Amino acid sequence: MRKPLIAGNWKMNKTPREAAELVQALKDKLTEIDGVDIVLAPSFTALETVYNLIKGSKLGLGAQDVHWEEKGAYTGEVSFSMIKETGCQYVIIGHSERRQYFGETNETVRRKVKAALKFDLTPIVCVGERLEEREKGKTFQVVENHIKEGLATLSGEAVLKIVIAYEPVWAIGTGRTATPQQANEVHTFIRQLLSDIYNRDVASQTRILYGGSVKPDNISALMAEQEIDGALVGGASLEAQSFSEIVQRAKIKGVN
Ligand code: PEP
Repeated sequence: MRKPLIAGNWKMNKTPREAAELVQALKDKLTEIDGVDIVLAPSFTALETVYNLIKGSKLGLGAQDVHWEEKGAYTGEVSFSMIKETGCQYVIIGHSERRQYFGETNETVRRKVKAALKFDLTPIVCVGERLEEREKGKTFQVVENHIKEGLATLSGEAVLKIVIAYEPVWAIGTGRTATPQQANEVHTFIRQLLSDIYNRDVASQTRILYGGSVKPDNISALMAEQEIDGALVGGASLEAQSFSEIVQRAKIKGVN
């Protein structure tokens, strides 16, 4: 049984003060929640504030990116030990916005995933095709490359510690969601791929999230699909009401 996971990617939104307000509102709504893992991923500058408010609760903390080197002359970058010390347990790696605007590649994803595991952080590895790739029938090929190259050289045991997020780029922040069937088709493909590369245990235990305009009104249909284990939520994670509704609805699939 894979425990559902709902992660909120706040992107470049919320100052530490605004983040604190949102966390307070979320805590009021989500204190009793069980059967679903919840992760908040604020910007680097709000990590510590958020951690101080959620420690001891069921809410988890994630960073939105990280550099793979341990320290050194990398102006503007943030290391694993830095995010770990702020209380992070998770880190988002390879988000399509990082790939599109900041030159993230499968190679940098691979380095970051490897480093995340070394630091005992759970990487949420994002994969997914752009619109023109889907229209050219290349969805599976792109996703396969993201997975094979992004996870290259990892053992099956290591892969068991990661979370994969399938995020079709054309559905991110556009209001255009993949249908539950479209999403499940790719999730099934990813699981088969993991089974082919590793084995059936790795494939069946790895959590695969869907991301792309997830809202309270579409989460239930997405979660009803067999291979969808949760969601990486952008826009709708910025409001306590919508994010907590998504969590509540995802919980229905969860263990209690
Ligand atoms: C995301 O940032 O990963 C995302 C899926 O954003 P949105 O929910 O706004 O489409």
